[in-house]
Order: sequence, then C-alpha cells, then structure tokens
Amino acid sequence: MAGAARDGKVAPVLPLATLIGRELRGDGSERPLVRYGHSGFAKRGEDYFLVKPDCLRIPDDPSSVFSVFAVFDGHNGVSAAVFSKEHLLEHVMSAVPQGISREEWLQVLPRALVAGFVKTDIDFQRKGETSGTTATLVVVDGLTVTVASVGDSRCILDTNSGEVSLLTVDHRLEENAEERERVTASGGEVSRLNLCSGQGVGPLRCWPGGLCLSRSIGDTDVGEFIVPIPHVKQVKLPNTGGRLLIASDGIWDAVSSETAAQVCRGLPADLAAKLVVKQALKTSGLKDDTTCVVVDVIASDHCSTPPPLSPKKNQNKLRSLLFGRRSHSSVGKLGGKPALFGSVEEIFEEGSAMLEERLSQNLQTNANLPPFRCAICQVDQGPFEDLMTDSVGVCCPAPSTPWTGPYLCSGCRKKKDAMEGKRSSRAATCR
Ligand SMILES: [Zn+2]
Repeated sequence: MAGAARDGKVAPVLPLATLIGRELRGDGSERPLVRYGHSGFAKRGEDYFLVKPDCLRIPDDPSSVFSVFAVFDGHNGVSAAVFSKEHLLEHVMSAVPQGISREEWLQVLPRALVAGFVKTDIDFQRKGETSGTTATLVVVDGLTVTVASVGDSRCILDTNSGEVSLLTVDHRLEENAEERERVTASGGEVSRLNLCSGQGVGPLRCWPGGLCLSRSIGDTDVGEFIVPIPHVKQVKLPNTGGRLLIASDGIWDAVSSETAAQVCRGLPADLAAKLVVKQALKTSGLKDDTTCVVVDVIASDHCSTPPPLSPKKNQNKLRSLLFGRRSHSSVGKLGGKPALFGSVEEIFEEGSAMLEERLSQNLQTNANLPPFRCAICQVDQGPFEDLMTDSVGVCCPAPSTPWTGPYLCSGCRKKKDAMEGKRSSRAATCR
C-alpha cells in the first residue's frame, strides 16, 4: 500500500485524494494484468474453450479493453459447442447498447449475457441439429469478473487470501432440487433410466430426451424446458487480484474446488492448468473430456499488501462448505446491495429461469434504444409487422400472465413461452 511503512522505510506517498479518486472512479486506472493458460485431454473430443484476452468495448480505444474466457462441454456431438464458441460472445455483445460508460456496461452485462445465451440457442436450434453444450463464459474487466453459465462446467475463484469460492451453479438434475421442480412444472418428467428390471439406474434425467442437465445450449430434440438461461454472478476482486479456474466436469467429477485451487497455487497460469488436469487424471483416469482454463488477474499495483492469511482458517472451512462442490444453491438476489465475503465484493447474482425477471433488470441506461428492438435477437421490428406475425399463433392459448418485460419479437416471445412450458416454439401450427 502506498504510504505504508515497511521494514522501517516509508514508501513514496500518493496523495489520499488520488487514492480515493481511483477507488471511486473504478474507471480502469487500477487495471490489473491478466495472464492465462489452458490444458486438457480429450476422450470424446467434445470439449471446446475460448480465450480472447484483448476485446475492446469501444472500437479503437485500448483503455476499454476486457478479456473473455469460456469452456463449452458438448454432448451428442460437437456442433452446439463449436457454434457457441463461434457465436456466443458476438451475441452477448450485440445486446450491449452503444455509447454507454464503463459503469453502465458492467451493469447491463448480466442482462446482455442472458440475451446472448438465448439468441445463441435459438439460432443453433434453427439448424435442426440435435447436439447440446454447456457454456461457461467469463468476462474480466479490470477487477470486475462476470460469469454466466449453463450446465455443469464450473468457474471457481481463488483469492490471494486462500479462499476458494464457486462462481457458478451446477445445472444437474441429480443435484439441483430447484431445477427439478422447474422442469417438472414446465411439463418435463424427471426420472432415472428405466431398464427391464423396473429399477431406475444412473443419474436423474429429464424426459423426453434423457438429458442429465437442466440447462444447456442446443439440445433441439429434448423438451424446451431445458433452457439456455444462464446463472450469472458478478464480483469485484480485491486489489490483490485472484485466480479463476474454468473447467469442464471431467475436472470437477475428479477433484474438489479446494483441491484444484490448492495443487496449482503459486504457479504461473499455463503450468497451473496442466497441473489441475494432471491431478484430475491421477484421481479418476481419463473418463471424460477434461478441459481447464486458468486466468490470473494480477494487481498492477505491486505495493498492495495482501490481506492476512490467518486467523481465518475456520472461516475458510465454513466458506468451503458454503461454496463447496455441487452446491444446490438457491440463488440469492443481491438487489444491487454489495455483500462482502472475505475480500471479494459480490455485486450481482441471479439464476432464475424466468426471462421476464432476467431481462427487466437494470433497464435504465443513457442509451436511446429503438422502441421495437427485440431484447433477445436485437432485430428492429415495426409494431404492425409484429402484429401480423403474431396473428398466426392466434389459436394458441394466451399466456396466463401478461408480459411486462422489455419488447420481444414474436419469434423470441414464442421461445419464451416454450421455455415456460406454455407451447412449443418449434410447432408451426397449433394442434
Ligand atoms: Zn427476437
């Protein structure tokens, strides 16, 4: 810390006003370094990852740089994973209004992530292919980390104080009671695979389709209650930075969050990723595709004093219980009130599968948006044009509750209703 006495010497003093100003602005003047590495072993070849360290929020403005990292674990083929790797980020960015400040961008990002995930799913399903994928997308902007995820790939955070926390929620029917209830209420059946004996075997699956996940991108042949609406969490790292581990379930089925963080602590990111994969293989052998991306957010201000390591041991144990693997997490809404755990500031968390709740958040920006731009696919439509399209579905039952969210085109509205179990977005006519 500037101005702190260390070893009897006094470091150069930055005026207090400068320090406070930096903190209050949060405008990137404290921008940390981002280092990353990845590693993996293929069993089926259905894992993909994305590393984009130099994205620009404002074209030609290097001060608007942010980084994106993602893991996609495909099933029943690779096309959904490949499609998501190629288009998900672009769809998220297209849902971010132009000409907004950094603060506003961080505020609208959770909503843009929801829109981008849903648009990617709609676009992929139009291709008529049956594969599906998990998607865990991480946006690092300064010390602010925003994670959006469907499926059971996972992102964990290891801060320099030694605390390990889970930034995602597993969408596995077996372990997520809330998701089981949602799928059942939307018309899906949740049960184990039934062999001739009448005895259910294996993990809980959703029928039709038999998928173990409750959320994914793709999966055109399963019920539409398998939704692409991500759990989103946004945190601000302490000034000392932190390490993110993004990995597919090939890692997490073999090692706990704690173990993964621990085996690579103190090592550079590329070596760390290799060690985590090695540890998983050592524990379980190569049972599944294993992919690990390690991202280090390193404070550029090397004068920062790391928070004390002790006497937090017991707190850490509690933390790992709370944030340990296979959390069933009923998702808390923080409602914009920052909550502190350790030295990481929780800014936002929401995991609801209801689009209305997800798209209505943080609507107030300075950006002037056209009144009939669809909040999901971003296509501008005249109100008359929309009425014409909508009249095709006139024999379908009206939604039980009126939509009070932002404008959606008729196609995206059908998708929304289908995800809630009201009707199929794929049926051309009602029967
Ligand atoms: Zn639309």
